[in-house]
Parts: sequence; C-alpha cells; structure tokens
Amino acid sequence: MATIAANIQQVRERIARACAAAQRPVQSVTLLTVSKTFGADEVREAAAAGERRFGENYVQEAIEKIEVLADLRAQIEWHLIGPLQSNKTRVAAKYFDWVHSVDRLKIAERLSEQRGPEQPPLNLCLQVNVSGEASKSGVAPDDLPALAHAVAALPRVRLRGLMSIPEPSDDPAQQAAPHRQLRQLFHRLQQEGLDLDTLSMGMSADLEAAIAEGSTMVRVGTAIFGRR
Ligand SMILES: *Cc1c(COP(=O)(O)O)cnc(C)c1O
Repeated sequence: MATIAANIQQVRERIARACAAAQRPVQSVTLLTVSKTFGADEVREAAAAGERRFGENYVQEAIEKIEVLADLRAQIEWHLIGPLQSNKTRVAAKYFDWVHSVDRLKIAERLSEQRGPEQPPLNLCLQVNVSGEASKSGVAPDDLPALAHAVAALPRVRLRGLMSIPEPSDDPAQQAAPHRQLRQLFHRLQQEGLDLDTLSMGMSADLEAAIAEGSTMVRVGTAIFGRR
C-alpha cells in the first residue's frame, strides 16, 4: 500500500508550506513520525519512505518494535514522547535516543545515572504544562527555570529543549496561544545561557500554528498512519 508514503509526502508539503508562510527555512523543522499503536511493518514502510525519527508513547510497546526493527537501528532515532514512570527509566535510558516527556528532576537524574557510558548522551526535552494543556503531566511554567538548569547540569543526558501537548482546538488563535507561550519560555531559558535547540510542539491538527510560532520538531501520527 502506498498510503503511508503518500501521507508522509502530504505532511512534508504541509510543513514546507507552513515554513514558507513563516519565512523559515524548511530544514528548520524536523518531522517526528509518531508510530504509537501501529506495528513494526508500518514503521518499516515509513522508514522506506525516508522517515528517520519515530515517536512512541509506551515504553514496552516501543521496545518490542525496536527489537523487531533491529536491522534499522543504526538509521533510526527512537523518541519517547509519552509519560515516563520512574520504574521504566532504566529501559528507557537503554533503548531510546530522546525522551521528550521529562517533567521532574528525579526522572532526569535516574536517566542520567542509568544511561550506559558506552552510549551517546540521551537527548531530553522538558514537558511543560502550558495553559490549556490537555494532559496533567508537565512542569508548571513557574517551576521550569529551576528544573531546566538542574537537568542541564546532569552528565550523560543533554537538555535539548521543551515539549508541550496543548488542548486540541480548531480555532487558529486558540492553537497559537500555547505554542507562543512555550516559545517565550524557550527564549527565556536561552537568554539565561542554556544551549537549547528543540521546540517540540505541533501535531497532526495544529502543525501549521506550531511552525508559525517557532516549532523545530512536529510530532505527527494520525496524518501519517491514520486514526488510532
Ligand atoms: C499521539 C501523540 C502525538 C501525535 O498526535 P496526532 O494527533 O496523531 O498527530 C504527538 N505527541 C504526543 C505526545 C502524542 O502522544
């Protein structure tokens, strides 16, 4: 079936149009293909269409796919985007390249301790509970600076940026507000001297609004694989 490849092409075109509208270079936005609930075969199809970064929500489900797709491991980055409990940090530190959902120092400390010394540093984003956040997870904006500076100082992990999951909305103005808030928090941390390069925001329904507000990584599932 050519559907996944065709959907990927459409998503890339949406990203390119949104970048053009925002007067941003198209290479400034990375596509993270969200494969949660879909199987290894679908991931393989997306990889054959050129996708190199896959996002998963559930550690156990992801590990099964990562093992089945071991032959692609060197070409693919695996990103954990779902909530991470402390009893799963050891496997997360072993299997993933990125974790987007860090919202407590304890989780980051465990990942830092458990990341293998032979592995490259684990890339981290802090999940922020911006206004209108759909989930209960995420650090409160007021608590973000202290957490960010503490995580940035840990060994074996590298703090890359911020992530959020705003409440879904069809209204462009309502879509823009939480993305703008996350960008402002991101810029403030950069001004405080943190070397951050990743603003992980925007999904199937709102990637245009997110790119307009400065997203550098959009996390897209439904528009590529279909409804879950
Ligand atoms: C499922 C999920 C996505 C993808 O959402 P779509 O609307 O299917 O594109 C992105 N980010 C997170 C954290 C998710 O859980």
